[in-house]
Order: sequence, then C-alpha cells, then structure tokens
Amino acid sequence: MIDYIGGTFRKRGGFIVYNYDNPTAIVEIDLLKLVKQSIWLTIGSLIALFGIHFIVNAPFHFAFSFRSILKTTTLFSIGYVALIVLHEFFHLLGFRLFAQAPWHSMKVGVDLKQGIAYATTDRFMTNAAVRKALLLPFWLTGIVPAILAILINSTTLLVLAAFLIGGAAGDFAMYRQLKRFPNHWLIKDDPKMPKLYVYKTK
Ligand SMILES: [Zn+2]
Repeated sequence: MIDYIGGTFRKRGGFIVYNYDNPTAIVEIDLLKLVKQSIWLTIGSLIALFGIHFIVNAPFHFAFSFRSILKTTTLFSIGYVALIVLHEFFHLLGFRLFAQAPWHSMKVGVDLKQGIAYATTDRFMTNAAVRKALLLPFWLTGIVPAILAILINSTTLLVLAAFLIGGAAGDFAMYRQLKRFPNHWLIKDDPKMPKLYVYKTK
C-alpha cells in the first residue's frame, strides 16, 4: 500500500523485474492522479468536518496571535507525522489481523523525495483481507480523530483528521479496483510501486 503524504512527486525511472508468473490482473494507481484526488478529498473533508464542527460546537470566537499560530503549526506538524506513522502501522496490523501475514514479512517506510509512505508484505492475501487492510487506517487515523476532534472541540485535530482522510485517497482507489474481483482471489502487493497483482483462485 502506498500513500501520498505531500511534497513533490517525480516519476521514478528504470525498470523493476517481477518474478511472479502471470497475474490474472494488475491494479495500478497513477501517482500524479492520486495527488490531485488526495488534495480534493482533503478539501472536501475540511469543508464537511468544519460544517459539522460549527453545528455541534458553534465556535464563533476566534483569537489569533503569533503564539497561538506557532503552537498550532507545531502541534499540527507533530500530529501529522505521528498519524502517518500510525496510518502505515494500521495497514500492517490489517495484514496481520485479516490475512495472518507474519510480522517479519512486512516492510514499512517513507520516501520523502516522492512524498509517499508505504507499508507492505511479500505474502499473498485474499482480496477480502486486503480490502479490509486498505481501509483500516482510514477508520482509525481519519474517522476516529475526526469524531474525537468534534467531541473535544479541537480544530487542530479536525484539520489533521481531514488531511489523514485525504491521505487515504490511494487506499480508496485501490479498494474500488479490488471490488471488481471475487473475495477469495489472491492479491500480492508491489513493494515499490502503487500496484497490486491479482491472482485468480478456485
Ligand atoms: Zn494507506
């Protein structure tokens, strides 16, 4: 699973050699398109979440100061990094819980040049398990913080939740593609590219 997390993206040159025999289908995500989808999803989430926030908490008093802006920016940056780490961890947890993939088969990392974070396993997983693992971070680092933000009336957390929901755009795109295939078919994640190999099973 590869997630766009911000920054500039450049197309990666060179070739990758695959030694798996003939997948039935390959699901691929265009990273440039994903960047746009991610930005729109973030903006949409911001509007929706702030709408709910205004209805529930009616925060009509604002006080801006250099100190408060600095504090919010610092909190946001720390929170963003922490939630991205958690987002990737929850993909791994999904592989473990839903596909019984062993921890040692997994890899996680960040490619700052490409502006992506990734969590992957070299194990075959069922389509149903992969779809659950794809959406687990959206629920736990997007929806849960959003609900929490509204409950504790925190705009910083609300903005963070919107960014993390936007950051799940790639996961949604993969999910939609995988919906087209039967649940028991097997999926293998590409360790380097936003690509999934789909294998037909009986
Ligand atoms: Zn993800």
